[in-house]
Amino acid sequence: MLSLKNVNVSFDQQAVLKDFSVDFNQNQTTVIVGPSGSGKSTLLRTINLLNYPASGTLSLNQTSFTFPNHFKASDVSRYRQNFGMVFQNFELFPHLSALGNVIEGPTQVLKQSKADATQKATDLLNQVGLAQKTDAYPNELSGGQQQRVAIARALAMEPEFILYDEPTSALDPELEGEVLKVIKDLAKKRNSQIVVTHNLNFAEEIADHILFLEEGHVNYYGSAQGFFNSENDRIKNFTKKMM
Ligand code: ATP
Ligand code: MG
Repeated sequence: MLSLKNVNVSFDQQAVLKDFSVDFNQNQTTVIVGPSGSGKSTLLRTINLLNYPASGTLSLNQTSFTFPNHFKASDVSRYRQNFGMVFQNFELFPHLSALGNVIEGPTQVLKQSKADATQKATDLLNQVGLAQKTDAYPNELSGGQQQRVAIARALAMEPEFILYDEPTSALDPELEGEVLKVIKDLAKKRNSQIVVTHNLNFAEEIADHILFLEEGHVNYYGSAQGFFNSENDRIKNFTKKMM
């Protein structure tokens, strides 16, 4: 389990996550929703320790970090390997092919042999529907294809969790579907995923749990069914506006 306990994050005196406590289960898909500026991206970056909280505790399985404190860079790096990130703008390495992007981490960080990494990357690119595109460079791929390479790249590191920050918001609707399908397939296979999205129809399809953030507070955290059938006025207003 991934736990945040009493986590506080602020930027320039402005509190963004306020005394934030949430547990995320493995083998589930949790979707984070909430208005713009509510702290969704900050939460993902904090989980991954790309931001250090001012106070609070993060723990995953047997590892925990309590802030404020000084931690060894090697411990933080090892912890970060538990997370694969998929960003809105794909952020592939432009000078590497699709295959090159996927084998980079496994060969450089995990020290897998090139042959093993290539075998696995080929399977993963096949799984995301890009068997024909392994040698293409990012500028030769559509946005939807690039994002599927990014997902294969994240999976290749075998992280505990994949964190997605609005993975389809830079895509045209006709390309969005192919990326959503990949994430949905992973949800069905019980991969551990935390997905930030504004697409509530998609959230309803894939989420086991919904985390609804407002101004750095947890407004709802529970079953997707409970969220979409809620009688709570704030939740109803939010879903009405977004669906
Ligand atoms: P959106 O839906 O628009 O992506 P979000 O829920 O992801 O919004 P965050 O990006 O987490 O929101 O931002 C939450 C608040 O923290 C905002 O007020 C934002 O301006 C502020 N913030 C985020 N990152 C920084 C930073 N690096 N420096 C200063 N302020 C920041
Ligand atoms: Mg954001």
